[in-house]
Amino acid sequence: MITQEQRVRIRRQLAEVGLRATPQRLLILAILEETDEHLDAEAIYERARQWDAQISLATVYRALAKLKEAGLVAQRYFARDHRREYYEAVSKGEHYHFTCLGCGKVIEVRTPRIAQARQELSEALGLEFTHACICFEGYCPECAAKRRRGTLESRAVPRFTVGNGVTIDD
Ligand SMILES: [Zn+2]
Ligand SMILES: [Zn+2]
Repeated sequence: MITQEQRVRIRRQLAEVGLRATPQRLLILAILEETDEHLDAEAIYERARQWDAQISLATVYRALAKLKEAGLVAQRYFARDHRREYYEAVSKGEHYHFTCLGCGKVIEVRTPRIAQARQELSEALGLEFTHACICFEGYCPECAAKRRRGTLESRAVPRFTVGNGVTIDD
């Protein structure tokens, strides 16, 4: 699954933050870079196990903690499922998440405006921002239409589909 090119790139990322390129770290970063979904530790473990039968859930948690600490992996919470932690590769770039309260899908949104706001606030107030935690909630176009017709049934369990502001349906 991991291409030679990807391996070289991930090794470089790890070297830049001073982390040893263990096979587990390489595998987890490759899984997170490859996926369009937001995965929790168990889902990462399930995928990792297909490539490394020896890997344990504890190893996955340990690797995730290291990668997070080094700034290569970000941990996210989503509105409808705030108890679970999801992970994604920081190399995906700055983006925010819109959770549909109707169907539970998570849509990734990219906008330069939040970075601009940080810049303006930083200049005005002398604040040094290191992180912005912004959680958008509402209804996707399909659910909003159903809501207007009064036919929206809320799903109890969120599902997570994403893309560059594009939604991939299951
Ligand atoms: Zn929806
Ligand atoms: Zn995301």
